Amino acid sequence: MTDELLATLRCPIDPDRQAIIDRDGTVLLCRNCDVRFPIKNGIPVLVPDAAELPEPLRETSQLPCQRRENRRINRGN
Ligand SMILES: [Zn+2]
Repeated sequence: MTDELLATLRCPIDPDRQAIIDRDGTVLLCRNCDVRFPIKNGIPVLVPDAAELPEPLRETSQLPCQRRENRRINRGN
């Protein structure tokens, strides 16, 4: 995977699809939510189902970016 490709990637969990992805050894790391995504056969697997959440989170809905989204919805009411 090239740096040019990496620069185009965005976190699939980020509600705004703006969060930048960094390479961290053999995985990809979202700068915004710290979720890790695997690289399989050189292909980044950027799908929520493949995400490895930062401890101690168990669900993507617990991520800070998802909670920000919830607050934004609440403000609109
Ligand atoms: Zn993210």
